[in-house]
Amino acid sequence: MALRSLPVSRLAPVVGAERVAAAERELEALRSRLDGRQVWHISDSSTRGGVAEMLREELPYFRGAGIAMRWATLDAPPAFRQFTKALYYQLCGVHTDATGATGSTDSSWPEPDLGRRLYERICREAAERFTAGVDRGGIVVAHDHQTAGLIPHLREAGFTVLWRAHIGAPPHRQQADRAWEFLYRYVAGAHGCIASYPDALPLSLPGGMPLPFPGGMPRPGPYVVAPSINPLAAKNIPLHAPADRVLEAVGPLPPRTPLVTQVGRWDAVKDVPGVIRAFADHVDPAFGAHLLLVGPSTEGDPQAEEVFAQCLRARSGLGLLRARVHVLRLPAADSREHALTVNAIQRCSALVIQKSLAEGFGLTVSEAAWKGRAVIASPVGGLRQQVEHGRSGLLLTGPHDLAGLGAAVNRLLADPARAAELGRNGHERVRGRFLIDIGMRDLARVLTRALPC
Ligand code: UDP
Repeated sequence: MALRSLPVSRLAPVVGAERVAAAERELEALRSRLDGRQVWHISDSSTRGGVAEMLREELPYFRGAGIAMRWATLDAPPAFRQFTKALYYQLCGVHTDATGATGSTDSSWPEPDLGRRLYERICREAAERFTAGVDRGGIVVAHDHQTAGLIPHLREAGFTVLWRAHIGAPPHRQQADRAWEFLYRYVAGAHGCIASYPDALPLSLPGGMPLPFPGGMPRPGPYVVAPSINPLAAKNIPLHAPADRVLEAVGPLPPRTPLVTQVGRWDAVKDVPGVIRAFADHVDPAFGAHLLLVGPSTEGDPQAEEVFAQCLRARSGLGLLRARVHVLRLPAADSREHALTVNAIQRCSALVIQKSLAEGFGLTVSEAAWKGRAVIASPVGGLRQQVEHGRSGLLLTGPHDLAGLGAAVNRLLADPARAAELGRNGHERVRGRFLIDIGMRDLARVLTRALPC
C-alpha cells in the first residue's frame, strides 16, 4: 500500500502550535524508542469503515515523523467475512437472523465450531504470510475482531502485539458474553489492548478471563486512545459550493429542503430501516424535510448488499413519502471524490443522525459536528462520548427510541438557532478531543510504553 509522508506541522493552522508540538514530542519519543523497528497496522479492509478512514489519515503523519509505520489488510475469503460479520453482531449484542435483519432473539451463530476452525485457519495463514514478509521485533497493532486471531502467532514470532478495539461492549453485556469469550481467547495473547474510551471493553467475563494488562499500565482498564478525524482530509475540509455536489449525488431537490442525514456502512447495526420508520411515523411532514441515507458501494460485499436491499424494501413501503427518502450508494472508485461528496452531504444537512443499535465509536458523529451540524444519536458506545446531551447534540433515550428520534428531529427543524448552537458546541468538542493530532499523540504514547527497550 503506497503511503505519503506529511509533517504534523501542517495541522498548526487548525490546532495551534502548542498542540502540534505536543504531538511531535510523542512521535519523536516513539521514533527514538523504535530505533529502526517498524510499526504495522493490520486491519480487515483498506477501504470501508472508520478504521480504514483513520489509518489512511494518520499514517502519513507518523511516517513524516520518521516512524516506519505500515498497514497490511487481511485478504480474507467471503466465508471468513461472513463468519466475522456474525461474530461482530454478537459482540455488539445485536441479534440478527440469517439475512442480517435485526430484532430476532436467535443468538446462535451459524455452525460455531466450523466458524472457529475457519477463523483460526485464515488468521494463522495471514500471520504466516505476514511474518514471512516483514522484519520481526517491531510493533503490530491488530484492529478489531477480524484480526484478533493473528495475535498469538504474531507474539510467538517476536512482535509486540497490541489489539485495538474499535468495537465496544454492548449495553446488555450478558447477551454478548459468548462472543467476547470467543474473542478473548486470542486477545489474551496481546501485550495490551487499546480501547476508544474507558469502559469500552468488558474487562472480565463470567469465566473470569481477564483482559491482558501490560506491565506498568494503570489499572483497571486498557489503554485508551479516542478515535479522531483529520480536519485537513477531503472528508472534512471546507468546500466551495457543496450544494452542487449534493444535487449531483442525490438528484433534484426542492429549494431550501431541510436534509436529515445518516451516513454509514450498510450494516444491520446502523439500523437504517429504523431511521426510515422514525422519519415516516414521527417526523412532521410539514417541514418538507428529506431523509438521506448514505453509504458506500456494496460491490463484492454480499452482506452489505442484503442490508441495502432491506433498506430499499423499508423505503418502498412508504407510499408517497418515498419521494422524500433517498437511499444512496456512493461510488468508491475515486476515494477523494467519494470523500468530498460525503463531506458535502454532511455539510449541507440540517441535521445528522446516528441511530446505531451499538457503536464502537462512530466517526460520522465527529465528522458532522466538526462541520457545525447538530447531531442526534443513540446513547450507545462512543456516541455517548462524542455527544454531550443538550450541549453538543441530542441523545435518544435508547437505541430503539423511534418516537424520540422523530421528536428530536421536529424540535431542531423547528428551531434552527438551537440546532446551530448544538453544532457550534459540537465543533468545539471535536476540536478539543477528537482531532487527529490528539489521536496520534495518544497512540504514540501507548506504543512507546508498550515496546520493550
Ligand atoms: N463513510 C464513507 N462513505 C460512506 C459511508 C461511510 O466514507 O458511504 C465513512 C464515514 O464518513 C466514516 C466511516 O466511513 O469516516 C465510518 O466510520 P464510523 O466510525 O462511523 O463507523 P464504522 O463503519 O467504523 O462502524
